[in-house]
Amino acid sequence: MPYIISVRGLVKRYGKVPALRNATFHVPEGSIAGLLGPNGSGKTTTMKILLGLLRRDSGDVEVFGMDPWTHEAEVRRRLGVLHENPNYPVNEKVRPLLVHLARIKGCRESEVDRVLRLAGLVEYSDSRIRALSRGYLQRLGLAIAMLCEPELMLLDEPTAHLDPGARLEILRLIGTLREELGATVLISSHIIPELQEVCDYAVFIQSGVVVDHGSMEELARRHGVSASYRVDARRPRLVASRLIAEEFVEAVEVLDDHVVVRVKGGAHAQAEALLSRLAAEGLVEGYELRTASLAELYARVVAG
Ligand code: ADP
Repeated sequence: MPYIISVRGLVKRYGKVPALRNATFHVPEGSIAGLLGPNGSGKTTTMKILLGLLRRDSGDVEVFGMDPWTHEAEVRRRLGVLHENPNYPVNEKVRPLLVHLARIKGCRESEVDRVLRLAGLVEYSDSRIRALSRGYLQRLGLAIAMLCEPELMLLDEPTAHLDPGARLEILRLIGTLREELGATVLISSHIIPELQEVCDYAVFIQSGVVVDHGSMEELARRHGVSASYRVDARRPRLVASRLIAEEFVEAVEVLDDHVVVRVKGGAHAQAEALLSRLAAEGLVEGYELRTASLAELYARVVAG
């Protein structure tokens, strides 16, 4: 699997304060990855090192296969970033600022209209930045990060300082971006459950150490947390009745042409054996592991 970010044995201290202590993780190309951990765990430090803004003490870091510290300009040209506390020129208007930034980054002006549309900012094109709400400022931040078709986006706490409604909107926006952008995204957050719907890969960090990382599927298997399968079936009710009879099945939801079945932690092998049997009987057309609970995973991995 090709990795767009590769970090091995990363160490960074601020004076005597250790911020990263031997952190190791990878981010596969095409994923929406969460860098998840409590405040002070080293997320922003990691982001800054990936951006080439901060020099590491030791360890190997590769972004697009290059060291971001020695190839900062090349790496920066190919990525988009949303900093945790961005500063915007508040008297500037939205569209002119984006046009200016597009010129600096070296892409066409038509790119500005694309990101205004993607970020839901078209009707604010002429607004002064100081008139935007916090939620819309974050949309502007995303629009800037999306400018010039980056291959990778680094979003540092994109939902921090937002009220719950605006948080949800920004997360929905990030979720819908995947197909339109085709970019790999690394999002840091200390609010774990809210990334459930967005991330398909997670890097759990605590006190500067990456405790575990992997696709949601790998992590769910490794840590035995409960998970949901999407089961495609022509006769979903019949399949549901077979599933619900099993001791390891927690819940079954019947939908038009499929069933969502939630199985107990550690029961993946049993669940998949049963689904294979149902497939052999012609009742199940296919199945895939959909979601593991991020909050449950986090509790298992980080809190032990
Ligand atoms: P997070 O983004 O997960 O909140 P940070 O990377 O900002 O974590 O911080 C990791 C650790 O490094 C924390 O203990 C923090 O207090 C410390 N730290 C971060 N920046 C500095 C700095 N400029 N000087 C001294 N200590 C810092």
